[in-house]
Amino acid sequence: MRMLEVTCPSCSPDEAVEHEVLRSRRGSRGRRLYFEATVRCSRCDTVHRTELRVPKPIEVEAVVSREGESRVETLHLFPDEEVRVGDRLDDLEVTAIEVGEGRAESASAEEADTVWTVDVGVVEVPLSLHAGEKTVSDKVKMGGDEYVEVGETLRRRGEVFTVKSVLTDEGKARRARARDVKRVYGVSGKR
Ligand SMILES: [Zn+2]
Repeated sequence: MRMLEVTCPSCSPDEAVEHEVLRSRRGSRGRRLYFEATVRCSRCDTVHRTELRVPKPIEVEAVVSREGESRVETLHLFPDEEVRVGDRLDDLEVTAIEVGEGRAESASAEEADTVWTVDVGVVEVPLSLHAGEKTVSDKVKMGGDEYVEVGETLRRRGEVFTVKSVLTDEGKARRARARDVKRVYGVSGKR
């Protein structure tokens, strides 16, 4: 059963109360999406129709800095969505917002001309890899939110290795998010 909080014309005209959605449909009109529903009030059982408007996302230009290179990409944001320096938009961290000729600490998506961001999604995890008699130092690229776990098999330059231990700021861990990992110790090959 889908529920929706809306006002009820017969028992609660000013305050939203729970309603059961009996039927609904979506449509769009200009820049707005709407959601039309036939609902039943949970308090007085009145059945009535209601319409909710949701703004359509707009395209905002973003400069994305990723591994030392910058490129222009497009973000899809709601027009009245607030963007602030330091915010995370998925894997992108906002570093600056251009509005007209100047810069702002925050702006709505509609006001922002260009949003400058850095991709914090991909991280390079330092790796010490034991291969035969030698230990080599390298880095493995991973999604920052991916987990590294002792015993799992990862790839480095096309070759597999097994994770033997994981070091974070808090010491050794069995499992940690790539962005929190200080160093991975591995043994070449699958174990
Ligand atoms: Zn009611």
